[in-house]
Amino acid sequence: MSDYDIVIIGGGVGGTAIGAILASKGFKTLLLEKNKFIGGRCSTYEKDGFKIDVGVHLFGRSSKGPHGEILNMIGMEDAIDWVICRKPGPRWFYQGKFWAFPRELKEFIPASDFSSLMKLFRDVMKMKNLEEFERKSAKSLLSKYTNNNLVHSFIDIISLLYFVIPYYEISASEFVRCLSSLSAAFSIGYPKGGCISIPQAYANAIEKFGGTIQTNQSVSKIIVENEKVQGVELDNGKFISSKLVISNAGIRETVNNMIGRKFFQRNYIENIDKLKYSISALTLKVALKKPITNFKLVTSFSSYDPEERFNSLIKGKVPEEIFLFIPVPSNFDATLAPKGRQLIIAGTAVTQEGFEKNQEKWIKNSFESLQNVFPDLPENLMWYDVSTPKDIHQLGGKEASVIGLAQMMNQTGNDRPSPKLPIEGLYLVGGDAGGWGIGTELAAKSALECAEQILDRRI
Ligand SMILES: Cc1cc2nc3c(=O)[nH]c(=O)nc-3n(C[C@H](O)[C@H](O)[C@H](O)COP(=O)(O)OP(=O)(O)OC[C@H]3O[C@@H](n4cnc5c(N)ncnc54)[C@H](O)[C@@H]3O)c2cc1C
Repeated sequence: MSDYDIVIIGGGVGGTAIGAILASKGFKTLLLEKNKFIGGRCSTYEKDGFKIDVGVHLFGRSSKGPHGEILNMIGMEDAIDWVICRKPGPRWFYQGKFWAFPRELKEFIPASDFSSLMKLFRDVMKMKNLEEFERKSAKSLLSKYTNNNLVHSFIDIISLLYFVIPYYEISASEFVRCLSSLSAAFSIGYPKGGCISIPQAYANAIEKFGGTIQTNQSVSKIIVENEKVQGVELDNGKFISSKLVISNAGIRETVNNMIGRKFFQRNYIENIDKLKYSISALTLKVALKKPITNFKLVTSFSSYDPEERFNSLIKGKVPEEIFLFIPVPSNFDATLAPKGRQLIIAGTAVTQEGFEKNQEKWIKNSFESLQNVFPDLPENLMWYDVSTPKDIHQLGGKEASVIGLAQMMNQTGNDRPSPKLPIEGLYLVGGDAGGWGIGTELAAKSALECAEQILDRRI
């Protein structure tokens, strides 16, 4: 008899979410996490009374997306207390001015381009048969509506924010799915307690339904015999037997290092070698003596040509003016900063390769770009922390990518690796298998799909 029905390797959003679903269905579940905390790339730490996300987070559909679906499914619909980004809603910062999308974009572009863009947004809401767009880019879709450079640069920034790849790589279908579902839900938000509240809600569910979570437990191997999973081996050599193993550690790490390439057919391995990841990020976490803004979310952007912007990023060049995604967590939940203080987080996309060489310049230019948005920042600064691609790698592996497998053409829809691996009893969950959506919602959707496959198997 096995020690467990399910062993889950990794306590990121995907790992905790699948654990919550399966524990609620009566599976004897063990989750093993190598770090001393759960959450992976979606966790929060404390410093001087501030509660700070390791990344830079906002959540596309709050309770109306897959996080809500999972909690409803397990009867814990109130486990996350969402604050929606309204009053004031999201703002963009361009040419020294804050403005609201869509209505104020028309001040910057000709009326005909503005109405073409609005038509695109209306059409997106009605598009069916997305399969035909799976291997086309968002750029090719946009180009049917307008060639205005500023509009292209703006949509490219949206793609970099949502998917952390440029708009000429993101599959048009994934872009349409995310944009239309976001517009329909109209509930971009942030959880009280910081982003850790999401995996923590799932972890609480695992324990509530009788499952076990062990941190500081690194899995080194998945044991396979007779083409069937037998269990896992920890770094300390201990073997734990299990009927099913679900890995949240990433497809390459799981296949190449935890199992071994010899257990897979050649074409499967070749496909895995070809997969591409989204790029990484630099984030600044800024502690302030007093509030300097009442906005909840600002995105600053510049009108760089998208291809030029991405190519120079890949070459490791540091732009003078850096686009920044800037949530203000303490404006969603005042308890995230000590009384009277403010916490601002700002992030931008960078590549892992070559980042360290230019690290100081990246940080300096990002800080100056943030100061450009909030001129009162320097005189109110207490301190700021920095997270780099190296930190992201430590948190989730997956080549330090923000998302996991990039949602680019040939890697979305049916082209995405399945949560079911070609070894009996072995599954993958998180940003590397199945699912669709933005960041944590992709990982949560992957958990829903993985659960469906496991539950179907039981019938
Ligand atoms: C800077 C930044 C900004 C982001 N912004 C947003 C945003 O605004 N909105 C949004 O929705 N998402 C955002 N994301 C993305 C989001 O955080 C990720 O998509 C999501 O958290 C990934 O979840 P995952 O299930 O793939 O797990 P991961 O976070 O990759 O976690 C995997 C877990 O597995 C553990 N593990 C790995 N190997 C082992 C092993 N051998 N043994 C035991 N445990 C192991 C790791 O320690 C980790 O805890 C952002 C991410 C970053 C880095």
